[in-house]
Amino acid sequence: MEFEPVIGLEVHAQLKTKTKIFCGCSTSFGAPPNTHVCPVCLGMPGVLPVLNKKVVEYAIRMAVATDCEIAHKSRFARKNYFYPDLPKGYQISQYEFPIAENGHIVIETDGDKKQIGITRIHMEEDAGKLSHDPHRPSSMVDFNRTGVPLIEIVSEPDLRAPEEAGAYLRKIHSLVCYLDICDGNMEEGSFRCDANISIRPKGTGSLGTRTELKNLNSFKHVENALRFEIDRQKDLIVDGGLVVQETRLWDPVKNVSTSMRGKEEAHDYRYFPDPDLLMLVTDDEWVDALKKTIPELPDEKKARFIDEYRLPSYDADLLTSSRELADFFEECLKEFPNAKQVSNWVMGTLLGLLNAEGKTVKQSPVSAVNLAGLLKLIDEGIISGKIAKTVFEEMAKSGKSPKEIVKEKGLVQVTDVSSIESVVSQVLARCSDEVEDYKKGKTKLLGFFVGQVMKESNGKANPKIVNEVLRSKLGG
Ligand code: ADP
Ligand code: MG
Ligand code: ZN
Repeated sequence: MEFEPVIGLEVHAQLKTKTKIFCGCSTSFGAPPNTHVCPVCLGMPGVLPVLNKKVVEYAIRMAVATDCEIAHKSRFARKNYFYPDLPKGYQISQYEFPIAENGHIVIETDGDKKQIGITRIHMEEDAGKLSHDPHRPSSMVDFNRTGVPLIEIVSEPDLRAPEEAGAYLRKIHSLVCYLDICDGNMEEGSFRCDANISIRPKGTGSLGTRTELKNLNSFKHVENALRFEIDRQKDLIVDGGLVVQETRLWDPVKNVSTSMRGKEEAHDYRYFPDPDLLMLVTDDEWVDALKKTIPELPDEKKARFIDEYRLPSYDADLLTSSRELADFFEECLKEFPNAKQVSNWVMGTLLGLLNAEGKTVKQSPVSAVNLAGLLKLIDEGIISGKIAKTVFEEMAKSGKSPKEIVKEKGLVQVTDVSSIESVVSQVLARCSDEVEDYKKGKTKLLGFFVGQVMKESNGKANPKIVNEVLRSKLGG
């Protein structure tokens, strides 16, 4: 029997507000434990939550970007459970009336486009952070994160392969970053994903029993965990067993998932409307004003890059994968308007450097202006493409401008015909055997002579002129 995986993702994005969702405490990361807390986020008796307007605005921005219907009236609910990272004994979330529903995004895998439904987007507060000391019989809790605003974005079970789940997650990630509502940092946990997966005989319509995978803190982990889980479920079913609905924890080191707990159902949480918070009313005027603040999003930007700069789809896709990279590219173009050449250097040399150094575009040691300056030097024939790579490396190390580096290191390309002629003469005199062979018809040796001349000139001779001079001297 052939099986088909069915996947739906729940993404939690921490919102980049300055203060928490229901109190004035700071949301900044990395402060000493339990210093960003107050009676409200610690759930002291008698306190009242006050909704942070920015949180609603950010949620609406995401709802607009994913074509959701925005609810005129929505409501907060209490999700009740006991856990030491949750001081109130309930999490304020949204349940029956979320801020947004029925949206979609478009993903692309192997050039195929597919629409993935967004079931809902809701707002909620984050819980605290527990840390377990393996050497002591105790755990510690940090409540700084308690009450930090999140949006949860729930997809329809429309994904059919780990690669599709990866593409979906990357798209959602790029949207929250473009919208500037989340910093997207997966390692610090500001962008988290749970993956729900079941399998069913291919061609059937009903859904199989799902498991939920947690601890997926990179795009790679999500895809690997799903691959493992598809195989695990298949093996179970083929052996005549049943998939148990449960929450499983991914171990990225051992590359396996293990059962963590039985999956709780919504009724286990005893959801009820939070009596401390009013119904949230969002009028059209507010939503329209927010729509005007939405920047150009990745799909539109990609289409424009193809149309305006005549870039191949591959280039446009990669360059618009992050807003910073797209901005970097366009900043280069302002100084050096040859799109394909800039694209080649940004995708190849620049991204190569950033990957090697583990840096983001924002941290790039080579500025857009300096990269453009380098391309100008090549274009004007002042340096060769080969020397340009050396200059680039030097820019990455010192942050100096390409002009300064070329001047300091004497890297200017030699285009003076008479000095190239003298190097050519020296080389030909030294290689008299090869010259003879060449004259007998072994014209492939031209490349050898060019190489010798380039070596002699420390790579500085203009290769075009070297070729011309060689041909005329050899009588070719
Ligand atoms: P819960 O919080 O109980 O996990 P949600 O409704 O928030 O429930 O999320 C459920 C997620 O699981 C959604 O992304 C949905 O698309 C997905 N899902 C639901 N049923 C299945 C199934 N049988 N197989 C795979 N994914 C599923
Ligand atoms: Mg879930
Ligand atoms: Zn607080």
